[in-house]
Amino acid sequence: MIVEKKHWFSLSAILLIGAVFITFGLIKRKIYGQESPSLPAAGNSPIEKPLIEKPLVEESKTLVKKTGAAFPVGLQAAAFENARLKNTLGWTFGAKPQSGWNIYVPLIQQTIGTEAEAETPEFAQSVSVWQQKVGLSPSGKIDGETLLKMVEWWQSRRLNSSRYPSSEELVSAPITDFYDPTRDSALLQIERETYNAYKKMLAAAAKELKLKMTKTGELAPDEKYLRIISSFRSREYQEKLRRASPDSGRAGLAVNSPHFTGCALDIYVGGEPTITKDPNRALQVTTPAYKWLVKNAARFGFYPYYYEPWHWEYVPNAAKKK
Ligand SMILES: [Zn+2]
Repeated sequence: MIVEKKHWFSLSAILLIGAVFITFGLIKRKIYGQESPSLPAAGNSPIEKPLIEKPLVEESKTLVKKTGAAFPVGLQAAAFENARLKNTLGWTFGAKPQSGWNIYVPLIQQTIGTEAEAETPEFAQSVSVWQQKVGLSPSGKIDGETLLKMVEWWQSRRLNSSRYPSSEELVSAPITDFYDPTRDSALLQIERETYNAYKKMLAAAAKELKLKMTKTGELAPDEKYLRIISSFRSREYQEKLRRASPDSGRAGLAVNSPHFTGCALDIYVGGEPTITKDPNRALQVTTPAYKWLVKNAARFGFYPYYYEPWHWEYVPNAAKKK
């Protein structure tokens, strides 16, 4: 009997203590309006929770966006490395030392199939997929080896020819197609199919880029973009160009130019028409005209020369290569 009484006493005591706790809990809930005050005991009153939590959530979202916290650590590291390499990677063009690959970002994006910025993990991910496809180790970084492989790929789709066309293969384009309205009438020739493809490409670009056009569908006189700067060049003319500017800027004028074929066009994409200096090229690759060409020119059979944003070559079968 005594044991039973003790039992009852203990049970009552437990119930009483429990009731006190529950009551306190209810009162607390009522005061603070909190279902589950689960903030750490760092001196923050639960009532402040909604006020401090929202900015924190926003901040962490921004952080995830910036650092790509949702991506594997390896890709995040590659993204940080790309942010550095795009301005600093040392390589050479001919004998000229080059710094970074920032100028080629639109071409790289097109090649690896992404629109993500170069310093993002998304970009690094697309780089690694491309690297795997071409037999490189998938680091996600545009390092020297990867850039070289990419340049090789771009170069492989060019004319790689300086075959001289017969006079029947050339047409003389109207001066209104050209960037310089005073251009010598002897310098308006273009290979026939190249010219037809250019006109088709121009019509599509004019629509999509909203270029200024005349009622008859020609570029308006004050529209500079996508006008032809230079097309077919005879060997004699190329020689003259080389003699006229033997140094720095135009030193790249080739002895065997693709312009000999009549299938290469220099097209105005902004800035100084054909100046290879980095700041000029860096500006050119940001124009809507250039970006449109990078994305669409291949549909019309035109492929870029990566180093000169204005230089495009008509190679209708390039897409079948590789
Ligand atoms: Zn050119």
